[in-house]
Amino acid sequence: MLNKKVEDALNAQINAEMWSAYLYLSMAAHMHDAGQSGMAKWFEVQFKEEQDHAMIFFNYVISRGGKVELKAIDEVPTKWDSALAVFENTLEHERKVTSLINNLYAVATAECDFATQSMLKWFIDEQVEEEENARTIIDNLKMIKDNGYGLYMLDKELGARVYTQASPLAGK
Ligand code: MG
Repeated sequence: MLNKKVEDALNAQINAEMWSAYLYLSMAAHMHDAGQSGMAKWFEVQFKEEQDHAMIFFNYVISRGGKVELKAIDEVPTKWDSALAVFENTLEHERKVTSLINNLYAVATAECDFATQSMLKWFIDEQVEEEENARTIIDNLKMIKDNGYGLYMLDKELGARVYTQASPLAGK
């Protein structure tokens, strides 16, 4: 049985993950428009990963006998000044998500919900990776600056990213 406070916080997180997915799909659209199709592909993978995150929370609420309640997804930005601005926004967003996950863990801890604390551990580790990925790309873009060949090579590298389903969804 899910405690109401924890259930509400998990439902809010489903919405936050869907908003993240929508944000990254918007970034993919922007990168396609800017002619950087490799980076666009990278964000399409990011979009799918965020949908996975939402589904992990969705499945978890149901498995605990809770009720999923989907709320409206807020509008997302559609324009950025440069590839660097897009990835800086990505890092800033992932830092915000990290604090959301931390707050969720704090709620679960306050309510002595040990199962929720356990499932959140995957997300705590995932956020370390998300922030590191964005930071590495920002470092690369700062090194490249306006060098066309450098941008071309990075676009190619990021376009090679392959989607793999999040491990908690295996067999679901
Ligand atoms: Mg996420």
